[in-house]
Amino acid sequence: MKGAIIGDIVGSQFEFRNIDSKDFELFTNSCDFTDDTVMTCAVAKAVMEPECSVSEILQEMGRRYPHAGYGSRFINWVFDDNPQPYNSCGNGSAMRISPVGFAADTEEEVRALSKKVTEVTHNHPEGLKGAECTAVCILAARQGRSMDEIKALAQSYYTLDKTCDEWRELQHGEHGREICQISVPQALECFFESTDFEDCIRNCVSIGGDTDTIAAIAGGIAEAYYGIPEHIWEKAQEYLDDCLLDIVNKFEGRYAK
Ligand SMILES: [Mg+2]
Repeated sequence: MKGAIIGDIVGSQFEFRNIDSKDFELFTNSCDFTDDTVMTCAVAKAVMEPECSVSEILQEMGRRYPHAGYGSRFINWVFDDNPQPYNSCGNGSAMRISPVGFAADTEEEVRALSKKVTEVTHNHPEGLKGAECTAVCILAARQGRSMDEIKALAQSYYTLDKTCDEWRELQHGEHGREICQISVPQALECFFESTDFEDCIRNCVSIGGDTDTIAAIAGGIAEAYYGIPEHIWEKAQEYLDDCLLDIVNKFEGRYAK
């Protein structure tokens, strides 16, 4: 989950100011954590407290951080007294899923847990698929599977026919939409073309669009595959408050990689 949080924080400075380049400072004063981090922590909490209602935990975290940059339908759901799934295929299901890939130890378990934490909001088939594919790739990376093997797995979910360069060219209109069908293949390609964790995050920022979310999705997979350089996490955690850090530390303590 640290990888997703780093991706969110680094990408946050470019969401509305795309730069189309891999040459930038990772952490600046314009960085902050956003909805991707808050909801990743919410899912981590839901994973650690399986007896509690997923909706209640997501609502509690959303209400604690109401200005983190949610989509309009999600924030309405957060404050709804009787929250119901709203058939979303938004990329929010994939951006928050990484804890599932780190907590579950079999593909079957990943699929079940992914469905459980996703269907409370993103019960559209593409919303469920985006989360599951991301979590399954994280598990495969944790298990030491090769890049080619992880790619084959990802291709059982998506047609991956565009390079990062091609995505960068296409990054507007239909191709910039914040839906799983677009953001997850983009994040996957950024990971498959990467040489290390930092390079993966830089790929995500460089293709533009919903940079913090693309980097959050890819960041979780890159964390599982490469690990995270200590100096990068040290910087990232300076942006978090005690509540979020406490969840990360509890989760990491319980599910050491
Ligand atoms: Mg965001």
